[in-house]
Amino acid sequence: MKNTVIYARQSLDKDKQKNSTNVQKTVCVEYAHHNDWIVHKFYNEGEKSARINSIEERPVISKLMYDAEQGEISRLIVYKRDRLARNVQQYLQIIRRLLDAKVEIHFAADNEPPLQTGPTGEFVEILLAGLAQQEGENIHRRQMQTRVYLAKNGDWCGGSPPYGYTSSEGTIKIVREKAEVVKIIFQEFIACWSEEKNITEIIKAMKEHPELKEVNFGKERILKIISQPLYKGVLIQRLQGVDYQAPNIKTELRIWDDDEIWNEANRRLKITCPDMEWLEVKEPYQALLEQKIKCGMCQQKLNDMKILKRQKVYYKCPDCTNRVPIVEFDQLVIDAILNHLKKMAQSHVEEVKKVLQNRFLHLPSKKKKQLEDGKLKLEQDLKKKMKQLTTDSSAIHSIQNLVREYKDKFAEHESLLNQCYHLEQAIQNITHFENLDKLTFEHFSYDDKLGILNLLEWVVCGESTVYLRYNDKKEKGDKDGRENEST
Ligand SMILES: [Zn+2]
Repeated sequence: MKNTVIYARQSLDKDKQKNSTNVQKTVCVEYAHHNDWIVHKFYNEGEKSARINSIEERPVISKLMYDAEQGEISRLIVYKRDRLARNVQQYLQIIRRLLDAKVEIHFAADNEPPLQTGPTGEFVEILLAGLAQQEGENIHRRQMQTRVYLAKNGDWCGGSPPYGYTSSEGTIKIVREKAEVVKIIFQEFIACWSEEKNITEIIKAMKEHPELKEVNFGKERILKIISQPLYKGVLIQRLQGVDYQAPNIKTELRIWDDDEIWNEANRRLKITCPDMEWLEVKEPYQALLEQKIKCGMCQQKLNDMKILKRQKVYYKCPDCTNRVPIVEFDQLVIDAILNHLKKMAQSHVEEVKKVLQNRFLHLPSKKKKQLEDGKLKLEQDLKKKMKQLTTDSSAIHSIQNLVREYKDKFAEHESLLNQCYHLEQAIQNITHFENLDKLTFEHFSYDDKLGILNLLEWVVCGESTVYLRYNDKKEKGDKDGRENEST
């Protein structure tokens, strides 16, 4: 008899209700019943983020894989792919181990494409991950456009407001008690400031104030508060590195009646900290190819000994002078693999299309159907109103109302037409593979890139050429950019 099990994981999303493990379990159990399978065990991971937790940090999935490898599981039902893992690297790792242990894998959610196995399996899974990421970015971009629009118009565009304010339903307002703390910070800064003291000394003196002792803000927080122009009603919102200043002064958000104190504090702050800037801590770049790159001359693995030279890091051969800059070379190789993937997708066009449509068309198609039904109903309504207007002469006094109603309905209709058009575009992009063509290096996270590298057996790096050896065939490419790096 086959042992069927269910795995569920609650994500840490806002949409908790929809993704709760109970909902997942119910859908998976229905799926099992539909297929006349008996469920033997329920593996419940509870609340673990697949994005930040490595497999080892998720005890339940580890146990599940252990049990599978002991031959105790023959069939696994999961709600969706992203319950197993959020990135390709982890996902492929889990799938490979389960398939090696002869476990059948099923996804129970309605529009989730089935697991792709066979020669096209892994690359389709990688494409799905990349496109899902791209889809997420498209959503993000649309949200960003809305936020920029709001910021340009001087409306609150979201995010957490500066200290002293609270946001609700798209606007911000002053929190009186906190505004008092802000006032004390400004007054104390001016009182404790002198040209001879450095910023640490000034802040130390400021913190003698009982109220400031209580909130115990660090230096950065205090500097940020003093330089925040919203306290004098100037709303500046930074989006993607661009500052958008509201065209008018927000008098309702001022905590001072005039600008004098704010200006004075900032004048003094500029004297004490002339080149104040908020340093963003960037994550160091993680090399991708350390285990996969070989010297074409010596057949040695280029090792991870990085040479710091003109602030560039290199992969270097231990036996000869062969070396390549890490960041550029990683990009070159990933781009080459992506092209390889796209070529493979083109040669399996029908299969891939089916999977992509399954994954991405289901929702827009459903939405489009709804919109079209709504449109039809509106058109009928409009006709009816027109008829009333032309025949019902006794209703002369209500003509104005009817006209207004007609106008509203007409606007609604226009907006539906517009939405239908955008959906149509989205659907066309998917069916014409346009998203696939636009898929680039940047669409993948570090972990997803590691997943892509699973397709690659070796990169052989010769004097002027690079060979990429995939798990199935060999390809030759130009070794771009290397000449510029050698001395
Ligand atoms: Zn070498």
